[in-house]
Amino acid sequence: MNYLSTRGHPDRKRFCEILLEGLAPDGGLYLPEQYPQVDTATLAKWRALPYAELAFEILSLYIDDIPPADLKALCAKTYTAEVFGTDEIVPLRELEDGVYLEALSNGPTLAFKDMAMQLLGNLFEYELARRGSELNILGATSGDTGSAAEYAMRGKKGVRVFMTSPDGRMSPFQQAQMFSLQDENIHNIAITGVFDDCQDIVKAVSNDLGFKRKYRIGTVNSINWARLLAQVVYYFAGYFQATASNDKPVSFTVPSGNFGNVCAGHVARMMGLPVQTLVVATNENDVLDEFFRTGVYRVRGAADTHETSSPSMDISKASNFERFVFDLVGRDAARLRKLFVEDLGVQGSFDLSGDPAFQQAAGRFGFKSSRSTHADRLAVIRDTDKRFATLVDPHTADGLKAAREHIVPGVPMVVLETALPIKFAATLVEALGEEPARPKKFEGIEALPKRVVKLPADAEAVKAYIAQNCD
Ligand SMILES: *Cc1c(COP(=O)(O)O)cnc(C)c1O
Repeated sequence: MNYLSTRGHPDRKRFCEILLEGLAPDGGLYLPEQYPQVDTATLAKWRALPYAELAFEILSLYIDDIPPADLKALCAKTYTAEVFGTDEIVPLRELEDGVYLEALSNGPTLAFKDMAMQLLGNLFEYELARRGSELNILGATSGDTGSAAEYAMRGKKGVRVFMTSPDGRMSPFQQAQMFSLQDENIHNIAITGVFDDCQDIVKAVSNDLGFKRKYRIGTVNSINWARLLAQVVYYFAGYFQATASNDKPVSFTVPSGNFGNVCAGHVARMMGLPVQTLVVATNENDVLDEFFRTGVYRVRGAADTHETSSPSMDISKASNFERFVFDLVGRDAARLRKLFVEDLGVQGSFDLSGDPAFQQAAGRFGFKSSRSTHADRLAVIRDTDKRFATLVDPHTADGLKAAREHIVPGVPMVVLETALPIKFAATLVEALGEEPARPKKFEGIEALPKRVVKLPADAEAVKAYIAQNCD
């Protein structure tokens, strides 16, 4: 399997070459040259497999530069009941007739990002050992991604994590989750500033090419193909749990921000999984909903990006969206480049409303969308508690609201649960008047000793800290 760049760079690469890279050299995103096709006989064989083996079968179609026995061992080591809480790994439960919740949030940090990040940690450790190399992951977080990355990389050989976060601005629970890690290879850096300062520092350090090369600086952001690939697996696992045979269509609703999660659903559908509809659920930051309704993709500035009660979906542009648009325009890289480099670069938007490709987006690719507000979120949390005695987090609530707008009788609708309610306790308290129960392993974490250094919002200070901690 070879990988290409959405922007037409002539190089073709193998999986392990792009594993440790971010963007392609031309600024595009990596995609496989073609999507492997899965026929009904294969689906029938896969239906009975435990999650780790299903993951191995799917990953094998995309990874041919890791020996199969090694890849199988990596999957088996990653997807265990100890780490993800159940033997099913992503158990499905029916909420009401035809509406299901697929639990993706029972990993170490209680959000779905663990599903991919845990595999990434093991893949990184494997590949770095094979190369005799090291990687220093530098990131900026306001919560979810940083903790998922730290829990995936803790104790891994050859990897260090330097995670910046805005000092005092994360919830006490989030701070405790990250800062209580005592692993030597995990470095929490609290920056005196806001999240944008952290992001600017990461950019400044990465733009210093000499420093970047010398200290082998890398990232784990959501455009990494391996992360997306790991997410493809739970669409198959959800499908098998929602159906008794492989001739039945299923729809999925996906709380969306950077379009990584739902893009994995698109890949599963392109492989031949019988997915009828992929509902993109957004909050008030509705760039994606606007696109699927109108054909216009208009990225927002900082002033138009709202801070909402489903904060992990607060995005102004969706970094994985380019992958889907590449398929939408028939994999025409010149056309893609015009849209994402010229149109977005110059006027901040592009318009596909008059394009037959867009008019076919729902039919050919199954995409639909909806948008929710804070009031919708609270109403869904209350309703789900009252009618089904089930607590959902604000992101999953956005999903449930969107799902109900696109239900077709006879077609199971699977809503992806992207976080547990305890992570967003303040909104649960607002909706229900009380805190959700906390899983045992997180009881009292606020009282644990904290491992964190405080630095000014200055890239040079962060560089000096990295240099000091790299031998
Ligand atoms: C990251 C995240 C999302 C958005 O996922 P994307 O892949 O960026 O679309 C939704 N909900 C939660 C809880 C998240 O952490």
